Amino acid sequence: MWTMSENVLEAIFIKRSQQRKKTSPLNYKERWFILTRDKLSYYDYDPDKGKRKGLRGYIDLDRIKCVETVQTEPNCPQERMHAFQVIYDEGPLYIFAKSEEVRAQWIKKLKAMVRFNKDLMQKYHPCFWIDGMWLCCQQEVKQAVGCKVLDGKNGFTSKTSRRGSRKPLPPTPSEMPVRPLPPQPHKAEAPCVGMSVIAQYNHPAMMPQDLELREDEEYTILEMSDQNWWRARDKYGNEGYIPSNYVVETANGLERYDWFCKNTNRSQAEKLLKTENKDGGFLVRDSSKPGKYTVSLFSKGGGEAGGICKHYNICTTAKGQFYLAEKHNYCTIPELINYHQHNAAGMFSRLKHIVSNRARPPSTAGLGYDMWELDPSCLTFIRVLGTGQFGVVQYGKWKGQHDVAIKMIKAGCMSEEEFIEEAKIMMKLHHENLVQLYGVCTKQSSIYIVTEFLSNGCLLTYLREGLRQHPTSVQLLEMCKDVSEGMAYLESKQYIHRDLAARNCLVDGNGTVKVADFGLSRYVLDDEYTSSAGSKFPVRWSPPEVLLYCRFSSKSDIWAYGVLMWEVYTLGRLPYDRLNNNEIVDQVSRGLRLYRPQMACEKVYSIMSSCWLDKADERPTFQELVFTVQDLLYELQ
Ligand code: ADP
Ligand code: MG
Repeated sequence: MWTMSENVLEAIFIKRSQQRKKTSPLNYKERWFILTRDKLSYYDYDPDKGKRKGLRGYIDLDRIKCVETVQTEPNCPQERMHAFQVIYDEGPLYIFAKSEEVRAQWIKKLKAMVRFNKDLMQKYHPCFWIDGMWLCCQQEVKQAVGCKVLDGKNGFTSKTSRRGSRKPLPPTPSEMPVRPLPPQPHKAEAPCVGMSVIAQYNHPAMMPQDLELREDEEYTILEMSDQNWWRARDKYGNEGYIPSNYVVETANGLERYDWFCKNTNRSQAEKLLKTENKDGGFLVRDSSKPGKYTVSLFSKGGGEAGGICKHYNICTTAKGQFYLAEKHNYCTIPELINYHQHNAAGMFSRLKHIVSNRARPPSTAGLGYDMWELDPSCLTFIRVLGTGQFGVVQYGKWKGQHDVAIKMIKAGCMSEEEFIEEAKIMMKLHHENLVQLYGVCTKQSSIYIVTEFLSNGCLLTYLREGLRQHPTSVQLLEMCKDVSEGMAYLESKQYIHRDLAARNCLVDGNGTVKVADFGLSRYVLDDEYTSSAGSKFPVRWSPPEVLLYCRFSSKSDIWAYGVLMWEVYTLGRLPYDRLNNNEIVDQVSRGLRLYRPQMACEKVYSIMSSCWLDKADERPTFQELVFTVQDLLYELQ
């Protein structure tokens, strides 16, 4: 159903020949590039007929070691301004995109697809290899190790992940600069120290070492050694730490436009537009098709009470230009939007009012730089949210302004010292679909765990009682997609959840689902919960290898994810509700599986079922699930 050969991206690029020793204009040819799940292929291209011809070459994705931008050469022609490199065992393949957006889209996609590859590079050459020399470091050996370290956030390596991390390589003689560096023709485009960024949200300085962020103001980055908190300077010369996910590079990205709503899916876009209730209200969001964008537009007319929403995919021509309903092509998305702010041109209204989701800033990784021990006197308790395994959970405020949830750990419930050590690592985990740990208070008799607060509470309750209207299959699949994205992040950090289930996910005010309580079960002091024979053990969410041999892995999380999907599609039923725990262990290890929920079509059910394969290594990875769910969402809309 989802074959390896399906195209993920397609575009016409200029490609530099890899063979010739000396560069000449003959070395640059237009090629039709196609990216599939397993290959990057390029074909001959007939510009007159606009047709694709014979296959010229391909790279298996699993051989790719690095995907990065390349700095433009001095005096380079217009059509070669947006270069990127795909490095594999035969060296770099240089490709030139038609626009910044297209280049960014391809790099992002390729990076995501190869990020589990072995032998990813930690250093690369930011400039071209031309006429027998690297322009960046002037070394004359093509195999010389890169002269620039990949950034942890946009590169593949992550300085903060303890488990999956690679040790930095010792310097080799070939890395020593032989000659002084030439002047840099252009500023490097990967985020780096010295770059200017724009704040997308306000953020108060919580601690003396923090710097206040004011929306739309410009800042200079001074230090990036922590990927979540960067040191920055504002225009008045004040310096301090800022949350890195609150700023975007001045130079590129749609993020700096108010109409761009990051992390907003179709249902959330409709909710935003309907709440705003303005005729011609619009926003631009990521499409469910990776790397593509969708314009969501609201009209009060059209006969339907409450107005209607329409969704238009932003299409790309073979030449990399963008258009909406009719072929009014533009090189960039902002230009396209600007045109349609004045002309409906095939849509049911022009884009009249920007609807923005900037009102709700995202969570930050902790409440300030390097701050995981929180002062409990800064917390105010507002109301009890519920009671869990460790005791009462309360809603409250941090310093009177920041919403938080506070888990007050009952004495004797948790191996506290081990947890406190782990909390330092958990603080660094940061993803839109994970409930953020903000910090801990460890100095009083009962410790507190302070996390992001999600106003729609637990996903299980939300499924059972919280959905006001009957949900559509698309809405349910979007919830599953949220969870798969959060889990793919944990998987990439080699972090095992161990207790994934709808009861351990939470829903925010926008309807986004986030995964909570990851790894926490290891610190529970209660045999009923921790022993697989115990009455509180999540038997209904466990695969045979956990039930029989306690073998936890990302693949046992995958099994639990399948069960969670089943919970979503049954609106919160108890899995195997006619069986007790002993019967489940017995029957599941003999092949019993959950039935297809009524609301789940065959394709949705085949995704769940793939999570319940007997052999753990035959189950998909979360990253694969993200793609599969995305594809299906696209198909269903
Ligand atoms: P535990 O995992 O310690 O057993 P829970 O996480 O299940 O406890 O918390 C108990 C209840 O408190 C949940 O069902 C949920 O309704 C509420 N709750 C917990 N954390 C949050 C949060 N971050 N935001 C909003 N509600 C929460
Ligand atoms: Mg819980």
